[in-house]
Amino acid sequence: MYKVPRGTFDILPDEYNYWKYITKHAEEVAELYGYKPIETPVFEDALLFSHSAANGTDIVDKEMYVFKDRGNQPLALKAEGTAPVCRAYIEHGLFNLPQPVKLYYITPVFRYERPQAGRYRQHHQCGFEAIGDADPLLDAEVIALSKQFLRSLGIAEFTFQLNSIGCQRCRPDHIDALVQYYSRFKDEICSDCRIRLTQNPLRLLDCKQERCQQLAYNAPKTIEFLCSECAEHFQAVQHYLKELGISFYIKHRLVRGLDYYTKTVFEIEPYEEKSQSVLGGGGRYDNLIEHLGGKPTPGIGFATGIERLILNVRRQGVQVLNPTPPTAFIAFMGQEAKMEAMKLAASLRAEGIPVLTTLGAKSLKAQLRQSNSTQAKYTIIIGSQELETGTVLLRNMQNKEQTSVMKTDIVNRLLRN
Ligand code: AMP
Repeated sequence: MYKVPRGTFDILPDEYNYWKYITKHAEEVAELYGYKPIETPVFEDALLFSHSAANGTDIVDKEMYVFKDRGNQPLALKAEGTAPVCRAYIEHGLFNLPQPVKLYYITPVFRYERPQAGRYRQHHQCGFEAIGDADPLLDAEVIALSKQFLRSLGIAEFTFQLNSIGCQRCRPDHIDALVQYYSRFKDEICSDCRIRLTQNPLRLLDCKQERCQQLAYNAPKTIEFLCSECAEHFQAVQHYLKELGISFYIKHRLVRGLDYYTKTVFEIEPYEEKSQSVLGGGGRYDNLIEHLGGKPTPGIGFATGIERLILNVRRQGVQVLNPTPPTAFIAFMGQEAKMEAMKLAASLRAEGIPVLTTLGAKSLKAQLRQSNSTQAKYTIIIGSQELETGTVLLRNMQNKEQTSVMKTDIVNRLLRN
């Protein structure tokens, strides 16, 4: 028996209602804030991710699905959403449009992680990117958007964790301080962190090992090293958030999992805090576009994990809409009536009326039972008498009333109801 690969899942029709619910609200909030849809391929040049996220990040070193295609090209399944959007921004000259260019996407993301509740090897992200403006107001607006999105889904209980990780100018001083601090605990940190200490010290702060987390609490804080520009930016973001009535906590350990972030970073945590339950996160990436070969262009973005949103939507008992049942179910008796049913179904569908027909040769009782299970509003019955008189029998499945309707009138009759 074949099974879905570990860490992946099928989305069956009932579950799909939740997906439609999330994407519908994502589209609505995108429109409110002026974001346009973008879709990028499911795989990219592997270097796009390793170059943008940098070695020494778990996503690049441990989690990317990298492969060579038959032409020997090194490719990677999409490991995150921002770098492909930035690649598209450069490639298609979107810098020629009025800035900021606001784009949103819903995409599968692939990471070779240890599967557990809310953590998959293929998960899906709904992301928003605003590229081309450095104004801290945009940071606040992106956070406001994320709040409105979650609220629109009925998720009420979450908090914003905020930090600033500075820029290329101020980060080296912070890194030096981190290296000094952690060097004292070389024997206590985990083996991964010993490598991080030489390769990518900022990553020491988001190690998930308990002892490393304890040490991170007292580690030198990013905000103590901000240059005046970054400090002002961070002050402004906080000021705008307060004016917008958006509460947040400063989390000094928050550095996010990718190296391209600058200045503002944030995460959305549900109240019951677990590392794999983070609902979403984002931040500024003012050097990324230049790093990928474009002109210096600031940007800020945010992404949520759809599976985790669904988990919370379910947990909070939010009712999502069920798909509308078919208007009619067509039952028939005999081979000749079957042809008639087939043609009638085609003409009703051509008018935009959703119908189902039975198949094979079942008793009328069995067909009515089948109709009931589809929750169709009407059953249309075609038997020998109907064939003779050019009519159909229209059965209202709620009050069980049956009326004979001319075949030529059935479209209008159903459209009226
Ligand atoms: P990231 O790209 O790591 O910032 O992730 C953005 C969001 O995607 C996170 O806040 C989570 O909600 C979600 N997410 C990340 N990794 C996974 C995963 N392996 N499985 C499910 N959701 C994930």
